[in-house]
Formats: sequence, C-alpha cells, structure tokens
Amino acid sequence: MATVKPAAGQYFTASVPVLIVGAGACGLTAALACRDAGVEVVLLERDSLATGSTSLSSGMIPACRTAQQAHAGVEDCVALMMADINKKCANQAPAELVEAICAQSGPTIGWLTEEHGIALQLVNDFLYPGHSVARMHAPASRAGADLQAALLQASERSGATLMTDAWVTTLFVAEEGTVKGVRIARPDGTGEAIGCGALILACNGFGGNPAMVAQYIPAMAGAEYFGHRGNQGEAVQWGHALGAATRCMGAYQGHGSVATPHQILVTWALMMEGGIQVNAHGERFSNEHDGYSEQAVRVLDQPGGIAWCVYDGRRHQLGGQFEDYRSACERGAVLQAADTERLAAQMAVPHAALAASIAMTQGERRCPFGRSFTAPALAAPYHAIKVTGALLHTQGGLAVSTKGQVLTDTGKPLPNLYAGGGAAGGLSGEHVWGYLSGNGLLSAVVLGRIAGQAAAYKQCSESQLHTVRMMQRG
Ligand SMILES: Cc1cc2nc3c(=O)[nH]c(=O)nc-3n(C[C@H](O)[C@H](O)[C@H](O)COP(=O)(O)OP(=O)(O)OC[C@H]3O[C@@H](n4cnc5c(N)ncnc54)[C@H](O)[C@@H]3O)c2cc1C
Repeated sequence: MATVKPAAGQYFTASVPVLIVGAGACGLTAALACRDAGVEVVLLERDSLATGSTSLSSGMIPACRTAQQAHAGVEDCVALMMADINKKCANQAPAELVEAICAQSGPTIGWLTEEHGIALQLVNDFLYPGHSVARMHAPASRAGADLQAALLQASERSGATLMTDAWVTTLFVAEEGTVKGVRIARPDGTGEAIGCGALILACNGFGGNPAMVAQYIPAMAGAEYFGHRGNQGEAVQWGHALGAATRCMGAYQGHGSVATPHQILVTWALMMEGGIQVNAHGERFSNEHDGYSEQAVRVLDQPGGIAWCVYDGRRHQLGGQFEDYRSACERGAVLQAADTERLAAQMAVPHAALAASIAMTQGERRCPFGRSFTAPALAAPYHAIKVTGALLHTQGGLAVSTKGQVLTDTGKPLPNLYAGGGAAGGLSGEHVWGYLSGNGLLSAVVLGRIAGQAAAYKQCSESQLHTVRMMQRG
C-alpha cells in the first residue's frame, strides 16, 4: 500500500539530489536529462529487471520536425501535431501541455538519437489512425523491448545509478509538502529510507490495479490488462495524500486487436492498410479507421467478446515487419486459406456474411460505418486472426505543469515533486476514443526529459548538491 508519512525524525541511509521512481521510458529519459545537467540521480525500480510497459510496446514515439522526417521529405510542424492530438480527444487535453509536449517532441528525438546514441527510424510505410503525416519514430525492430534496452544502456553510460528490486512504498514529506525521501522495500523483506532533493514519479498508471481500474474505468473492469503488472497506481495514491490534483482518470489506451488465446498484440497496420474486422457472425461492426483504442470496447461488445482480423497475403507481408506479428505466426495464431469459403470454415463463421464483408473492401460499395476503402481490395489468399479487446495502459494521472511539476487542486506546484509518462495525466482527454496512437510514449519520453531537466535545474541552482552518504548502509 502506497503511503505518505511525516519526514520529521526520519533517518535516511543516503541522500541524492534526484530520485526517480520507475525505470521505464519516462524514468530513463528523466535520468538522462539529469545526468546531462551534471546532477546525480538514482532510479528506483521495483522489478529485478527494468522492463515496464515500455518493453511490451511497439516502441513508436510520435514527434514532429525531426531529422528523420526531413530526410524522408515529410513536412510536419508543431501546429499540425497539436491539431491531430486535439482533434482525436475533442480538445479535452490541457492545451498548454499539448503545446509544450509537441514543441519538445522533435528536439527530444534528436537528443535521444544524436546525443545518447538511441537509433530511431521514421515509420514511413503506413500511417497510424489520426496522424496526418508519418511521425512515428521507432527502433528498427519496432519492438519496445529494444527501445527499453537502448535507454537502459544510455542511462548506464551517462552515469545514472539504477537500483533494482527497490519497490518504493512510502514518501516522507515535510509540512510544506516537500518530499524529503522515500522508503524502499526489498523482496527479502528488508528495506531502507533514501533522502532526495527532488522526486520524479515515473511509475506509470494504474492498469495493474484491478480495484482502481474498476473505480475509474468501469468499462474495462473485466477486460484483459496487457500492460506491466507492476504499475499499481501508486503515483495517484501518493498524489491524493499530498493534495495533488488528477486529470483524465477515465482515459486509457485500449486495443481491439490482441490475439486470443495467444496474447499477442496484432499490429493495427493490417487494418490501416486494408484489413477488416468481423464478428462471430462474419459481419463487420465498425469503422476500423476510427482508432484501435476505442476498438477495444467495440470488440468486447461483440458476441463472445471476440472479433476476427481478416486480411490477405499483401498485408501479411506488411505484418511481417513486426516482431509481435512474426511471433503470432510462429505460435499458430494466423489462419490462411485459398478462398473465402475455406477461410469461413476455419473461422467457423457463416460464409455468405464473411464474403459480403470482404466484398466491402472493393471500394465501390458504401461502407455502412463510414470507412472509405481506398487501398487495394482484399484478394486471395486470405488470412485471419481471432482477437479480443484489452486495456494497454491508463492515461489518467497526476496533473502536471509544462515543467512536469505535480500540481495541487489550486494549480500550485508542489515544491519538489515531478511526474511524467503514465504517472501524469495524459493528452487523451477523458475517454478511450481520445487516445491518439503514440500518446503513451510521447508523454513518457518528452515529459520525462522535461521533468528531469526541471528537477536537475532546481537542484543545481539551489545548492549544487552532490550525493551525501550520511552513513554506510547496514
Ligand atoms: C502492448 C502495448 C503496446 C504499446 N505500444 C505503444 C506504442 O507503440 N507507442 C506508444 O506511444 N505507447 C505504446 N504503449 C504504451 C506505452 O508502453 C506506455 O505509455 C509507456 O511505456 C509508459 O512509460 P512509463 O515509463 O511511464 O511506464 P513503464 O514503462 O511501465 O515504466 C514504469 C516502471 O515503474 C516501475 N514501478 C511501478 N511502481 C513502482 C514502485 N512503487 N516502485 C518502484 N518502481 C515502480 C515498474 O516496474 C516499471 O518498470 C503500449 C503499451 C502496451 C501495453
């Protein structure tokens, strides 16, 4: 249970200028920013290996005005990126945060690639729903595990200290709201208290906490959670105890395409490039191009809570670019058939309905759900994957300023508490349909860097703190 206790009289075994809770994309970028400023920083990570939801992701980070876009001849700008985010969430995200994050997205990608050696390529062969131009930047493998590995290596090179098996349970706070330190619990039952000049919460959201999901996102209460289970909503619990405000608690990233029972994320590129989803009756039920997040709820609403992704050999080739998709093929999730009749038999859906659904991709038929079929129609051989809807990560969290400072209900920043990534309220408004692809890692890396810079600056300007070992442990 996350708790907040008075700092008065608390003994700390060590004290560092900046402590960071969580070593996913947000914590690691915040650590890099601190080290760039010459400030000592310690990352506290509850797991033995730092993986987080970042490792489960596809590693796609949206950003505008990057060198990668310029090289590919893609014209983009802060205003266009903001417009895409605001359109998707119907202007429900805090305008100043959207602007600050979009403005810093390009510089952050440049900083990660050029100064910290993290190779990120522009994904230029398809567009994710809602993005006007190609602006996703990802490792060549399009695997979040590779992004996380590269960030961990960069963090180690920078001289940041990573403590694993260090579960932060308690914040020690002085009367005026200054965080003086934290308690960590070790798997063997031991623990210690570590002091800090500033604390950055990078411990993501509450997707791994069923009670909080039921409270804030009842529509997903019984759904599969496909993110990192260690993300228990502690940032929000500590924040509430400190009088911090929260934002957008009902928002989340869903996904309408998780292979079942194989539990593998199936890339939405299949849908964006011409694939369709049908239900157990072989019928389409939505405009797949609205977005994969809201599709989670639509799929769960179908008979049996499942749907089928239906596509063809051409899109199968595209899927092969994704490690997850290759893994789905290896594990037998992907059906293949020479014609619609055999495909329907394998899927155990009515053939006439499936054939009619596939015929809709020919373009001349009007889609009852408003999708415009402009890509080449599906053609034999066909493929299908049985999928369900899932919760990927929560987007609601602590209200933060454009510097990543955690804000109280009155809009005043707490003295030395920062948050980013899934720990902070995101850019997706209040609902599942407000999530624009990439909002998760965008907030993680850009807000992580901003929060790291702000926390480091405060430490440098105040007293040039260095690590002060007050007593050797034990
Ligand atoms: C399957 C999947 C695919 C996705 N694909 C994309 C994508 O392509 N693009 C995109 O933008 N987003 C994507 N997302 C969302 C994205 O992964 C997250 O938004 C992002 O990783 C959040 O980064 P983070 O650093 O905030 O959290 P995390 O990466 O989850 O890191 C948080 C860390 O904090 C640790 N922690 C938690 N509590 C404590 C504690 N009390 N003490 C110590 N440590 C603690 C956790 O163990 C974890 O390591 C995807 C998510 C999933 C699940």
